[in-house]
Amino acid sequence: MNKEKVFTIAIDGPCGAGKSSVANDVAKKLDIMHLDTGAMYRAVGLYMMRNEVNVKDLSAVEARVDEVEIDIKYENGRQRTYLCGEDVSEIIRSQEIGDAASAVSKGAYVRKKMVERQQAIAKGVSLLADGRDAGTCILPDATLKIFLTADVRERAKRRYDERVKKGEACNFEDVLKECIERDKNDMTRAVSPLIQAEDAVVVDSTNMTQGEVVDKIIALLEERLGA
Ligand code: C5P
Repeated sequence: MNKEKVFTIAIDGPCGAGKSSVANDVAKKLDIMHLDTGAMYRAVGLYMMRNEVNVKDLSAVEARVDEVEIDIKYENGRQRTYLCGEDVSEIIRSQEIGDAASAVSKGAYVRKKMVERQQAIAKGVSLLADGRDAGTCILPDATLKIFLTADVRERAKRRYDERVKKGEACNFEDVLKECIERDKNDMTRAVSPLIQAEDAVVVDSTNMTQGEVVDKIIALLEERLGA
């Protein structure tokens, strides 16, 4: 594969499709940066919650978003997300912060600010970005665009298993409801809704292992770059 050339990969898709884990593995194998764009919306959500701003009140959120300082750093090849100087990489993983991220991500100005930062990070380097608008907004000229999806029950099952493994008390039907709700929010918002980019390759991971998905993406990239 011609790794001298700068190349970018965009992975979008609904929640629980395995984007983050797959993106992490692909980036590691290719030795390129992985930009988890959802972490940035999660940091905005956390900031608003800590400052008692109602995340559903978009004017209130947008009035404060310029105060939100987000830094993305890489430690041992993994992204760390800093909010106003504090490493919040773990705190932002909760369901509550995920819901807050989903709410604040509806704001046009919030999105504009995040996309500007993401494009600045991506400038001139080989990188893989995952999110909801990586192929449609952040990296419109990406070398490879993937729309990673899976049946909603399978996605909910993966989320449920993940939480059980972490020792969190949860109920499958609630996790399923949460996934359906998150999909609805992401797909119906007015600004940059989650849609499949016209030139994206759809990968349905319902009956695939994480390793199979990773291999498929690398094979597709090799094809694009001319192995
Ligand atoms: O991917 P993750 O679950 O961390 O994202 C949290 C929320 O942030 C998503 O449900 C989505 O609403 C929003 N998001 C977005 N655009 C992105 C990444 C995430 O709107 N590029």
